[in-house]
Amino acid sequence: TEEQLRQSQKMEAVGQLTGGLAHDFNNLLTGIIGAHDLIKRRLAQNRADEIGRYVDIATASATRAAALTHRLLAFSRRQTLDPKPTDVDRLVSDMVDMIRRTVGPSINIDVINGPDLWLALVDPPQLENALLNLCINARDAMPDGGRLTIEADNCWIDSRNAIARDFEAGAYLKLSVSDTGTGMPPDVMARAFDPFFTTKPLGQGTGLGLSMIYGFAKQSGGQVRIHSQAGQGTTVALYLPRHDGGSADRRTPIEDTAAMPR
Ligand code: ADP
Repeated sequence: TEEQLRQSQKMEAVGQLTGGLAHDFNNLLTGIIGAHDLIKRRLAQNRADEIGRYVDIATASATRAAALTHRLLAFSRRQTLDPKPTDVDRLVSDMVDMIRRTVGPSINIDVINGPDLWLALVDPPQLENALLNLCINARDAMPDGGRLTIEADNCWIDSRNAIARDFEAGAYLKLSVSDTGTGMPPDVMARAFDPFFTTKPLGQGTGLGLSMIYGFAKQSGGQVRIHSQAGQGTTVALYLPRHDGGSADRRTPIEDTAAMPR
């Protein structure tokens, strides 16, 4: 589809965008080299007090550079998926303690599960990674605390659904992560799935989270949708294909006009 073409063009652009990343990386290296230079000079002058401070600066820069390359490698590595029938609500409940520690005490967490949840056919570690990324984004959007809601429900998509564009009609396990945070203004929303698009300071954001989640969802045969309202909060919904998705035994109409990747 046209949308897939655009996304693959975007992925090709990743190569070019690494130029920008190389620039940031170079800045970090310059910081490290500069600090080492100062360390050597202070060593010659026997100024132990200042040496400790410059070592800290070099270490901080090196740590940020390492984090940057680590995430870049994780992104560029062709993700090989190993889909398995997955109990999504169990995967969520197994992760809740870790998520709670990650988002901190100022954020309340609600976990909601619809009745008789289907199994999803996904790669469990990749889903864990996606969920954790969504929770970190939610945390970052709620610096003064708030509410994080993780909700799983069965869901039918058919061609009459307003969100059905670029969806295979069928059965999905919908996993959504909602926050009561800053929300996304329309210009951020429009670029949120772009690789390397971030509004966060260097070292905190790489802009790879949502584009990786998009890649994961599409490769799994699913989809991602974002709803967001500036000042209100954001919901990111993952539509994961149902394991054994066959029989159309239940239809849930969905009224929806969610944003999708450009
Ligand atoms: P990163 O988190 O490293 O910036 P992402 O691709 O995950 O990269 O997100 C891209 C941008 O989308 C973020 O920088 C932020 O501006 C916006 N964003 C993502 N999730 C949320 C959210 N839950 N609330 C508000 N803005 C968000």
